[in-house]
This record gives sequence, structure tokens and C-alpha cells, in this order.
Amino acid sequence: MSDARSTAVIDLAALRHNVSRLVRAAAGAEMMAVVKANAYGHGAVACAHAALEGGAGSLAVASVEEAEELRLGGVTASILVMSPLTGGGFARALAAGCEVVVGDPAGVHGMAGASGGRPARVHVEVDTGMGRLGVPPDGAMALAEAAAAAGCDVVGLMTHFATADEREGPEAGFMREQLVRFRQLVPAFRDRFPGVRMHAANSAAVLRDPDAAFDMVRCGIAVYGCSPFGGDPSDDDLVPVMRWVSHLAQVKPFTSRMSAGYGRMWRAARGTAVGIIPVGYADGFARDLSNNDEVLVGGRRVPVVGAVSMDLIAVDLGPGAAEWGGEEVVIIGRQGDERITAEEIARRRGSIPYEVTCAVSPRVARVHEG
Ligand SMILES: *Cc1c(COP(=O)(O)O)cnc(C)c1O
Repeated sequence: MSDARSTAVIDLAALRHNVSRLVRAAAGAEMMAVVKANAYGHGAVACAHAALEGGAGSLAVASVEEAEELRLGGVTASILVMSPLTGGGFARALAAGCEVVVGDPAGVHGMAGASGGRPARVHVEVDTGMGRLGVPPDGAMALAEAAAAAGCDVVGLMTHFATADEREGPEAGFMREQLVRFRQLVPAFRDRFPGVRMHAANSAAVLRDPDAAFDMVRCGIAVYGCSPFGGDPSDDDLVPVMRWVSHLAQVKPFTSRMSAGYGRMWRAARGTAVGIIPVGYADGFARDLSNNDEVLVGGRRVPVVGAVSMDLIAVDLGPGAAEWGGEEVVIIGRQGDERITAEEIARRRGSIPYEVTCAVSPRVARVHEG
């Protein structure tokens, strides 16, 4: 057993499998692997290298700091910084050899001021219905012209879908509407900026509709083997990449009515054995999983009992404390025939798998295998 309180074991062979599966779904379009937020909690540098080995053509991050971390980690591939830059961020992005997104005149102005000689490579972002970053469709060409006039190379035109993950339901059709709005811009951009790359699809969009692929797809969550639809990843031939494991640090007999943890939020209904696991909300095991999750021990599910505290959780192992001690505990992943997915934890919390893996904190060691 390792000496860590808990470990996130990252299966890079699974990651490469997911990437090649997405490359196939993209049907000839380039697959850009999104490794923002420390590769959704999986470790950015190792995942970036593995994604490129698996067939990704380029990488995307949210911040300049994330791009710089990749460069320090020896990544030489193209990197797109997707979030708006401020202050010295423009110059740092260029110094790191990144491409950047511009979605308003301030972005163009910042890039123009920063480019010391070499033209900045920019992707124009158009807001086709996400209602966040970007210019409205009828302002896209003017922004691109302004960027070109300021000495930038316009190398991309992009948009982002609001409802790609809703395969059914009232908003399922909205992705099509956004697609139509985006597609209307394509001919004029291809004409004015030969070689410009069009991109719109995230993981959900490319899995749902190959028509959304254009020249490039930007995939994050599916790279890590999670379902963007919140269901079973294997339905989409995705293999979960993260396995989060800990161990039984202590096991003690409980008699009926004894309580575990802060606030006495759980009391034993019968004599039982309670296991204490060195994982808490400071590790990313959310406090709203108090009395509301299961982990795997000895190949079976056992309930988390009482309040999740900063460093510890308790589980009800059932009668027979003497048989336990030191065993592996699986928080996310397989053990024997059982499995707990990030999607399952997300459902319990009213959240999405993205938040579950991103939450695994720096205190948890990442071990990359495969
Ligand atoms: C994070 C992000 C993506 C990746 O989305 P997934 O749903 O994780 O595939 C794509 N495009 C943009 C603009 C993003 O911010």
C-alpha cells in the first residue's frame, strides 16, 4: 500500500483509447484535446502528452498559466488559450507560442499591443446562443477584419453549444439552431481568410452529431472517459480514466445508537463495524455526500455514514469488524465486479461529472500509469 492518504490513479491507456474513439467520431476533423483545469483534475502535462500520442492534433486550456505549465512540461504542440486575457496575459500567451481567442474589440486591441513582430494567431469567437463569450454572428466578420487590420492572423472561427449534452428534452433542438447560425458564417470566412479553421463541437456535440465537427472538435470530458450526457460512459465506448482509491485507516465496532462524526448525523441502528477513511472535503470528497454516497471495500458497496469532514469519512461495513483492516477503498472506479462512476457521484449531488473530477484537490497524489 502507498503511504498516501488517497491517490488518483490515472490510466493513460484508457485516455488514449478515448482520444482515438473521438478521433473516429470526428470523421476527419482534427481532435483538439481540452486539458484545462489540470486536465479536469487528471494531471495536465501527463494527459496532454498521452492525448497527443493517442491522436489529438492540438490542445486547449483556459488560462495562460495552464499553457505555461504545459510548455514547462515539454509540450510543443499547438495550444489554444480559450478564456479572455487581460493585462500582461496577451504577451505571455504569445511568448508561450499560443493561439488565442478574441471575442470582442478589447481582445483585438490587447493582441495587437502584445505582438512584438510576429503576428498573433487568433480565433474569432461568435456567440450563436451560448450567451457568454463572443460577438453576435452579424459582428463576426467586422471583428475578424479589425483583427487582421491590427496585424493578427485570423486562423479560426469558433462557437460553443449551450445544450449539446441534452440528447432529448425541451432544449435538444437548440444545438441545431446554433449550428445553422454558425454555418451561415462559414462561406464568407473561408473566402476572406483562406485556411481559417471552423470549430464548434465539444465532446457531446461530436458524439451526437458528426455534422457539428467542421474542421476541428474541442473535446474535454470524453477524453477522460466521462459521459457528457451523464449516463454510463460505456454506452459511448468511453473508458473512465480516473480511479480514486484510499484505504481503511481504522475499523471499530459500533454498538446500536453510537454516532459517527460531526453533528451526530448518523447513528448505528444495530451493532456494526465502522471504517474510517482518510478522505474529506479538502480532498474533493464533497460535503453534500454526507449520508449520501457509497464506496467499494472488499468488492462490495458500503454506505458513507455521517458528515463528511475536512479530512475523513466514515463507512458502515456491517457486522464483523474483526475481518477488516487496511483494505483498499475505491471512491471512484472499479473493484472486483463493482464500479462507481463520476456520473453516479454527480447524480447524487445534483451535479455533473466535470465537477466531480475537477474537485479532486492537489492534496490527492496523481499517479499516471499506462
Ligand atoms: C471546456 C470547453 C470545451 C470542452 O467541453 P467538453 O464538454 O468537456 O468536451 C470545448 N470548448 C470550450 C470553449 C470549452 O470551454
